[in-house]
Amino acid sequence: MAILVLGGAGYIGSHTVYRLIEAGRDVVVADNLQTGFKEAVHPKARFYQLDIRDKGALDELFRKEKIEGVIHFAASSQVGESMTNPLKYYNNNLYGTMVLLQSMVDNGIDKIVFSSTAATYGEPERVPILEGDKTFPTNCYGQTKLAMEQMMGWVSRAHGLRYVALRYFNACGAHVSGKIGEAHDPETHLLPIILQVPLGQRKEVSIFGDDYPTKDGTCIRDYIHVTDLAEAHILALDYLVAGGENNVFNLGNGVGFTVKEVIDIAREVTGHPIPAKIAERRAGDPAQLIASSQKAIDVLGWKPQYNDLYTIVETAWNWHRTHPHGFKEE
Ligand code: UDP
Repeated sequence: MAILVLGGAGYIGSHTVYRLIEAGRDVVVADNLQTGFKEAVHPKARFYQLDIRDKGALDELFRKEKIEGVIHFAASSQVGESMTNPLKYYNNNLYGTMVLLQSMVDNGIDKIVFSSTAATYGEPERVPILEGDKTFPTNCYGQTKLAMEQMMGWVSRAHGLRYVALRYFNACGAHVSGKIGEAHDPETHLLPIILQVPLGQRKEVSIFGDDYPTKDGTCIRDYIHVTDLAEAHILALDYLVAGGENNVFNLGNGVGFTVKEVIDIAREVTGHPIPAKIAERRAGDPAQLIASSQKAIDVLGWKPQYNDLYTIVETAWNWHRTHPHGFKEE
């Protein structure tokens, strides 16, 4: 039986496919390649180019392959864009998941692990955040992910499908082999943007706001290595296969870094001065997000391997300096 990875050509999806193949699993990847890259798909995975909103294509895949469970990454994931183009997020994330769940129900596939986000919490009431804390998203991206979780809940009640939602904090870093890493176009995430400066692709970094109620005024985030996230998906699918109930888990390191601290670590790792300037706050940004991942550790047996930011930044730098244009050759 194979595992179907939807969005397996994207950043976190491709790292999960690598971990699955490294663990000897049979893997099928489907991706519409709108933001993902064919080159990021592990050569041992069977690849289908399809959009999850195309039910006919999904049904055909489920008839052709023997799928044990689905890991679902196929979604739009930029906070800023979700505020200026919310309907894109409702279409791709919510409507896409609706079509996918219908196809799974019709084809008798009953296990799904999917990407949720710390953005489901909005401005947290306390840190570290626990899974049972209030969810009140401050951006449309987080809202669609929360609605996806709720959709799974109702479909589960009606049709017996089981799901695990993994609420990621800030994914970063790259596979230790240096073969795959983060590549978004346009890039909006902090660490790859910082590393564009020593690559000569950007003059300076803009820090979005320095008047937040934090120790240096800049936003605090919990940065987690992409391979550790990948591992959690495999554990979550195994949990469902073993009969585990619907569940939600935070995935983070439990340690927060300010934007200024991340820039300082990147300066150390790259040996480049990386100039930075203060800019306006970005709409929809909570001041601080730090996870408690104790539940994933206790229930799934998750053991994050990369728990210091210096090492995480080193893996990212190793990827970006050897692939300054990501998967594109220029
Ligand atoms: N950020 C920044 N400058 C940038 C990009 C991001 O100051 O050019 C900040 C952003 O406001 C947030 C943190 O860095 O506080 C992490 O942002 P990112 O987009 O990487 O992830 P998010 O927390 O939105 O998921």
